[in-house]
Amino acid sequence: MKSINVLTKKLSDYLGSKEIKQILKAYDFARKAHLGQFRKSGEPFVSHPLAVANILSSFKMDQDTISAALLHDVLEDTKSTKLGIKKEFNLNVANLVDGVSKLDQLDINSTTEMQAENFQKMVLAMSKDIRVIVLKLADRLHNMRTINYLDREKQVAVAKETLEIYGNLAHRIGMNNVYRELEDLAFKTIYPTRYSLLSSSIKKNRGGKRGSLKKIQKKLQKRFLEQGVPAYIEGREKHVYSIYRKMKERNRSFQEIMDVYAFKVIVDSPENCYKAIGSVHSLYKPIEGRFKDYIAMPKSNGYQSVHTGVIGDNGQAIEVQIKTEDMNEVAENGIASHWIYKSGNSNSIDPQNKARRWVAGLLEMRENFDNSHDFIESIKTDIFPDEIYVFTPQGEIIEMSSGSTPVDFAFAVHTDIGLHCKACRINRKLAPLSISLENGQTVEIITDSLPQTSPTWLNFVKTSRARNRIRNYLSNLKTSEARILGKRFLDQHLLSLNLDLKKIDKKDLRNALDAIGTRSLNLLLEEIGLGKRVGNIVANQISGYLSKDKLNKKNKLIPLEITGSEGLVVNYATCCRPIPGDSVIGHFTAERGLVVHQERCKNILAVRKDPSQCFPINWHDDLNNFFSTKIKILTKDEPGVLATISTTIANMETNIDSLQVSPESGSGTSDFIFGVQVKGRDHLARLLRSLRSMSLVLSAKRLHDQENRHEERLH
Ligand code: MN
Repeated sequence: MKSINVLTKKLSDYLGSKEIKQILKAYDFARKAHLGQFRKSGEPFVSHPLAVANILSSFKMDQDTISAALLHDVLEDTKSTKLGIKKEFNLNVANLVDGVSKLDQLDINSTTEMQAENFQKMVLAMSKDIRVIVLKLADRLHNMRTINYLDREKQVAVAKETLEIYGNLAHRIGMNNVYRELEDLAFKTIYPTRYSLLSSSIKKNRGGKRGSLKKIQKKLQKRFLEQGVPAYIEGREKHVYSIYRKMKERNRSFQEIMDVYAFKVIVDSPENCYKAIGSVHSLYKPIEGRFKDYIAMPKSNGYQSVHTGVIGDNGQAIEVQIKTEDMNEVAENGIASHWIYKSGNSNSIDPQNKARRWVAGLLEMRENFDNSHDFIESIKTDIFPDEIYVFTPQGEIIEMSSGSTPVDFAFAVHTDIGLHCKACRINRKLAPLSISLENGQTVEIITDSLPQTSPTWLNFVKTSRARNRIRNYLSNLKTSEARILGKRFLDQHLLSLNLDLKKIDKKDLRNALDAIGTRSLNLLLEEIGLGKRVGNIVANQISGYLSKDKLNKKNKLIPLEITGSEGLVVNYATCCRPIPGDSVIGHFTAERGLVVHQERCKNILAVRKDPSQCFPINWHDDLNNFFSTKIKILTKDEPGVLATISTTIANMETNIDSLQVSPESGSGTSDFIFGVQVKGRDHLARLLRSLRSMSLVLSAKRLHDQENRHEERLH
């Protein structure tokens, strides 16, 4: 038969003749066992296990998995037994076939309850041998590729289950190529018209921007060449279903999603990943906070890469992922790539172990749930740890980033619902608007006929959508409306401190306002109403002022205490990057609200003494948050230096959030500027000490504003 020869040829690329012999024997066994059976397509049944084996051979799976793939349907459909397979082959093959057959026996049922049940059994099977799940995914992939032969009802049921469970699973164990294909096939099956419309628009769009893509690619290639980084660049495309999902659940327009120019860069070593990032940053302006180092800190499914986002010459958003060949293999085939490297590669990534840990976590979790519904909802969280799924009262699922609140939910449903949101019920019980939503909850928003939007919501909303809509609403308020709103909040917060504006002595109030740094009560109320000042902080300032003894408070502004956990109301200046322990000062701006600067920051020098713009700030005593700052490290120019430094930084419980490189050619040294997250000056000092103790490191110091900007100009 022709197709078995195709398989044998692929296998001979990576397996010996003894292993291939076992696989051929399995093929023979399957062919005989399935003799006289046919698929819905009319082909002999054995064509299916053969196709599954073919898929697995492209992941270079071992001989036992490929043999089991050929045999995966014999237990169910023929007279063969597990014992027979064990005798004929080995225990390993028998267990794999048995594992997959058990999954197959779980009939597809459309109720969530049944799927969850199936899923649990699947997880149990997985936990014994992770190859069972890889095999099952290949089986499902081939069934999805040939789904047209089933009747319509069955097609939709299989496709839904694929979206619900198998796509997610493939994604979670890092088999991204399989994940994308499964999702697209399922999407195409369930919504054929949407799929064809969307994919033809995508094709058209890609055609339209081919020229600019080429141009950017050329520029990158040239820069890599100049800086001596051997690199291979390719454009990166999102799959159809992920574009659809983004449009639907994040409410983005097609154009918005397609406007991103995404590239994948393959280099020859981990060090060159960092070098290449430096090259990209020297060519295009990096976007703050978009640098992600998954090499120093791999994702839980073993994914490694460095990511960055930059702004192109014409203002277009450009995403770049940089990986080595090995990392790329893991990124595409995840857990399956483990078997390729098992022959003595000393690479520290071990997806098998990571997946095992994940499975162990699932099993532990399962024991804490009484019914399957809760279980599957919690699984979904674990599969997409950054997202939560909650239900509208109509049963529609809304996906949001974790930590989202009922207000985020309200704005995710509709802007009007957000603006008019008054209260909420979670699982039919009244709940605070600021509470963090959990996976699987049903959220009902109670609205008022009048807008209820409050600047205090800015303290807790999580999504940028909600934040932008709130800010937008507030900034459009008329002065008088803002004042009324501001008064309502100030009164409310003063009340909780047993204070009443009307009962405060006029002169005391006047002095308190001076101490806060505002010209008049009306202005203060407006500022609160517009979200430029925060009601509870102002109330605390007034109360603090009133309770201090008179001698002390003369001409003294009351410092505001910050903890770093205020959320979005307090911003930290990106010019001087203050951290706890620094002397700091607060600056109000209309666009950004309160911005904390270092007292020595040059940008604040001119307005530092103006109490309407600046006022004193202290760090709270108990701080447990991370703050971003920059450090500059001068090192010997040796291979691997960046990876070593990154690891040292990561070992100090410090996250890296940006990186700039400027190799000083000829002098034998390199300069790196790392954006790092630390808890404060002590933490930073410890970090710098441990860096300085490295023989590679010539110097390490914190960067303050002026030097920082100078450095950035160098590139
Ligand atoms: Mn099958």
